[in-house]
Amino acid sequence: MKKVVAIDGPSGAGKSTLAKLVARELGFDYLDTGALYRATAVFLVRQGLEENASDDDIASLLSGAKVEFRNGRVFVNGSDVSDEIRAPGASHYASVFSARLPVRKHLLDIQREAAVHADLVAEGRDMTTVVFPSAYKKIYLDASVGERTRRRATELAAKGFEADEQKVRTEIIERDARDSGRDLSPLKKADDAILIDSTGLRIDEVMKKVIEVVKE
Ligand code: C5P
Repeated sequence: MKKVVAIDGPSGAGKSTLAKLVARELGFDYLDTGALYRATAVFLVRQGLEENASDDDIASLLSGAKVEFRNGRVFVNGSDVSDEIRAPGASHYASVFSARLPVRKHLLDIQREAAVHADLVAEGRDMTTVVFPSAYKKIYLDASVGERTRRRATELAAKGFEADEQKVRTEIIERDARDSGRDLSPLKKADDAILIDSTGLRIDEVMKKVIEVVKE
């Protein structure tokens, strides 16, 4: 495995923007694992699966699904679903289906393979704990719920989706609870991860802190 800078944290903490910038600065590849979970969930829902589908049904559908992350875009069986996965409904389904064993199993090797031939900045919920437990550097990026709500609402509005702040806040709180409370690979800070709180910081300030951690 090559060098991995692993970044975890809750939704809206700014992981994607940060990971992209850090990857560019270091000349590493970038992996958005949330995009893989979103694409997988969108695929399962499109195939007609309900939230309470059995593990067998999920596994059987996934056996015919090739999920890939290439150059910042995500594909399922060769079709680019990068825009579709950003709709608010996709966040919900990603969070629901990512708690299921066949989904996590299906995506584990895909994520690890990304670090076989290239140094990598990988972000998600279990990069530091499960996927890359011996990562070169580990960061847990957090921010207050208020700040994460504002960032997510701005992001949704920019994409033309409804962005009522109260609804966005409720969705973030629900998703945090599901992602941190599940049995499989829950979101938590690894003991050896450096905590960075991005509340009140500009992205260039957060970036500076991360680069300091990486170069330490
Ligand atoms: O990071 P993003 O908001 O795009 O992730 C969408 C959902 O995918 C998360 O709420 C979480 O449920 C799931 N996820 C996960 N493990 C990861 C990355 C994302 O369970 N490594």
